Order: sequence, then structure tokens, then C-alpha cells
Amino acid sequence: MKNYDVIIVGSGPGGIFTALELVKLNSGLKMLLIDKGGDIEHRSCPAIIKNRPCAEFNCNLCGLLCGWGGAGAFSDGKLNLSTQIGGFLNQYFDEEKLSELIKYVDDLYISHGAPTEIYGTNEKRVQKFIDAAIKYDLKLVPSKIRHLGSDRSIPFLKGLYEVLSDKIEIKLRTEIDEVIVRDNKAIGVKTGKGEELFAEYIILAPGRVGASWLEKEAKRLKLTTINNPVDIGVRVEVPATVMKELTDATYEAKLIYYSKKFDDQVRTFCMNPYGEVVKEFNHGIATVNGHSYAEKKLENTNFAILVSTFFTEPFHEPIAYGEYIARLANLLSGGIIVQRLGDLKMGKRSTPERIKRGLVNPSLKDATPGDLSFAIPYRCLSDILEMLEAMDNISPGVNSRHTLLYGLEVKFYSMRIKLTKSLETEVPNLFAVGDGAGVSRGLIQASASGVAAAREIKKRLTVAGTAG
Ligand SMILES: Cc1cc2nc3c(=O)[nH]c(=O)nc-3n(C[C@H](O)[C@H](O)[C@H](O)COP(=O)(O)OP(=O)(O)OC[C@H]3O[C@@H](n4cnc5c(N)ncnc54)[C@H](O)[C@@H]3O)c2cc1C
Repeated sequence: MKNYDVIIVGSGPGGIFTALELVKLNSGLKMLLIDKGGDIEHRSCPAIIKNRPCAEFNCNLCGLLCGWGGAGAFSDGKLNLSTQIGGFLNQYFDEEKLSELIKYVDDLYISHGAPTEIYGTNEKRVQKFIDAAIKYDLKLVPSKIRHLGSDRSIPFLKGLYEVLSDKIEIKLRTEIDEVIVRDNKAIGVKTGKGEELFAEYIILAPGRVGASWLEKEAKRLKLTTINNPVDIGVRVEVPATVMKELTDATYEAKLIYYSKKFDDQVRTFCMNPYGEVVKEFNHGIATVNGHSYAEKKLENTNFAILVSTFFTEPFHEPIAYGEYIARLANLLSGGIIVQRLGDLKMGKRSTPERIKRGLVNPSLKDATPGDLSFAIPYRCLSDILEMLEAMDNISPGVNSRHTLLYGLEVKFYSMRIKLTKSLETEVPNLFAVGDGAGVSRGLIQASASGVAAAREIKKRLTVAGTAG
């Protein structure tokens, strides 16, 4: 009955790095990697190509998020090498083990073509900012970053496809409907077309885009789940020179602040020196994001300010809450709202004229000048304004009235499935990794979780005498 030794669902970094680690066994393991999306050459987004709202297209499958490379394919490819950033793996591995895993994964990225240059290594310069930040209630989390860049990401993923397609079977455009469990053990998966595929071990790496499917499966299989928070905020855009000293030292400054008024955690996220603000689509909702190029420097720097929102009983739907607020911003503007900070503080909506005479030239051209206070809850807006004030002390000019705020930026994190320290679910032989399982929220930790699950499987196969 067994067709394969291992079946992996999802070809994002979680699934790809599980496969990469397992093929290192070089033992003739029979492995299948399945993804519901297409190959990298044929992935595209009509909303972006035609510059129209995502909701107009009714795509069966999101070309931006699904397919070879997963959600990371068109990403900025910032590889964050800190154990404290990009996921929750520090709750499964101690500091030493997680550092080793991240170093191992980073080396794999380099060996497959990531640049060797690394940012945030000048400890003296970084320390200067850590010391300055603390005086204003800000914590700067030092982190080393490797930058793949949006322009290098696709060739990198093509390279990984070539390496793996020789050694394992890859089935794209194949959606998995169910995990097959018999006698309380995972034994296979069932495709959307009803085909049953069997294996000794199943690894689910469906990413954020597959999180609702995984949640449904978790309910059916009676797996324990835990809610993660939803992060809501704005993308901030300033002239690159305003942030230059800070971004030269850190590349991406991870700043954490606890607001005075609400004691909420507020943080910077995904800083893009000399980058541009972009639109992102999720289940028909337009949200905002940012990226930068490895080879091209633009005039502005952007970053997100996010407020982590936890919920009290009996509310258990952080994703629905985030979607509701993002939809509100879409409803008011037809997509993304842009507002000058000065206008927001004066209680005025921004107009195309006011944006035009501002000092920051918006990089996202089709955002609608408007008023973010109609969409963002007061608590969240108050937290964001406090954070900008605090940041102005270490990067003067950030809190300028000309600074642009784009909304909304929402980070939906999946619920977390209860997993063992080896990332196995409560169903034996069924593993869950990456963003979909709620253990990561970035490329490096998604990849590292895949490697960790692969190592456990490798150990068991060796004991069983299957590994070569
Ligand atoms: C615009 C954008 C920019 C980003 N920039 C960065 C960055 O600079 N740095 C960083 O660290 N992170 C970044 N991220 C986050 C990063 O891309 C994710 O953390 C990472 O891709 C998660 O990897 P994953 O393997 O868990 O899931 P994903 O990459 O989401 O891959 C999951 C795959 O599973 C497939 N799938 C889902 N369900 C099924 C099913 N039922 N059957 C078959 N296949 C299925 C999907 O088609 C998808 O291809 C960015 C994300 C986005 C969207």
C-alpha cells in the first residue's frame, strides 16, 4: 500500500527545506513534494499586472502565494538570522540548538546562491543605537540579515527546483484535501481529485495560504490548537536619508515599544532601505507591504509599525478580526489609503494636492489619499503615533508631518497546532512545519522548521534501517 517513504505538502521554504535535508540521506528514499500552485515561471497575479483590485478577479488560486517557492517567491528575501525574530521556534528548541539550526539553514541558502554579504555585523555601531533606543523606551533587537532581494529570489528558487527535481517526485497543481489516518497513525493524503497516496511519514507545510485548510483538518483529526495574535498597523514611508544612519548600521532595525496608554506591544517590521511600498492581496483583500531590490536603490525607506492584538474570552477569531478591519480600509478607498502624518494629526484627510506638495514622493502610486482614522481602531492608532514619537529620537525626521502612512498592513498568523519538540502533531508520523502550522513567520524559521522535522524523520528511518 505504501507509495512513498515521505510525502510533503507545500513547496514553500518549509516544504523545500524538508526535502533538501531528506535528500541529503542519498539513500533512494522515495519522496513526493506536492503543491496546489504552479511552477515558478507560470506564477503571476492579474490584479498586479492590470493594476486592478484583487476582488475583481476571483482567481481559484493566488498566483502570488501558491506554487513553487510558496509565499516567499516574490518576497524581498530578507533572511533574518536572529533566534528571536521570524517565528516561535524558540519555544521548541533551546537557544543553542536554534542558533545551530539557523546557521545550518543560512549556509544552505548561501550554498544555493544567496549572497555572502551580511548586514548588522558592526556591533559597535549597532550598540550605539541600542543605547540610544533604551533612553526612549525602545528596545532594539540586534539581528544579522542576509538580503536575497526581490530580483534574486526567482533564480534562487529555480535553482532549488533543478536540484530537487532530479532526486524526488514533484507534483504541482495538485491540491491535498485530507490527511489519511488509520489506527491513530498518519498513512497518506487524499488529493482533491480523490486519489489516495500513501507514505510512512507526512509533513504538512501549507503556509499562511493553507492555514484555514490546516485548521479544518486539525478540527477533523481532533488536534489541539492555540491562537496566535493578529498584527495590525501601517506602512511608514520616509526619505531614505532620514533612516540612513540606522539602516546603515542594522539594515533592518527591529524596534519594540510598549505603549504608555494601553501597554500594547508595538514593533517595527520588514524595513526596506531604499525600497518601495507594494500592494499585497489575501483572500480578495488588499493590504500593504514593502520590498527593496538588491541591485537598485530608490529614494525612500519604508517599514511597518504593527500592533500585536491578543484577544480575551470568548473571542477566538483573530484572522476574521484582521480581515474585517482591512476590508474596511478597502471599502473606504477602493484599496490602500495613504495619508500624511501631519494631516492625520490635524484630523484632516489627505488630498492628492497635499500629498503632492509633501516632501515624500509616494512610491505606491495608486494608493488613495484619505483618512486612516476612519479605518484603524483608536487604540491601534494611538499606539502607532506613540511609537513614531519615540522613534523620532533615534532617527530624527521619522515623526515629520510629511511622513507618509499607508494602510492597512495586517499580518495574519495561523493558529498554532500543538506539536512535540520534533514538530510532530498529536497524530503519530504527521508533522507540521512553517507558517501554516503557526511555528514560523519568516523564510529562515519556516526553512529551519522543515530541517528540524526532516532530521527527526531521518533518525527514525535510520533506526528502522530504511536510510542508506
Ligand atoms: C509579500 C511577502 C513578502 C515577504 N517577505 C519576507 C521577507 O523578506 N523575509 C522573510 O523572512 N519572510 C518574508 N515573507 C514571509 C515568508 O514568505 C513566509 O514566512 C514563508 O514563505 C513561509 O513558508 P512556508 O513554507 O511555511 O509557507 P508558504 O511559503 O506559504 O508555502 C506554502 C505552500 O503550500 C501550498 N499549499 C497550501 N495548502 C495546500 C494544499 N492543501 N495542498 C497542496 N498545496 C498546498 C501553497 O500553494 C504554497 O505554495 C514574506 C511574505 C509575503 C507574502
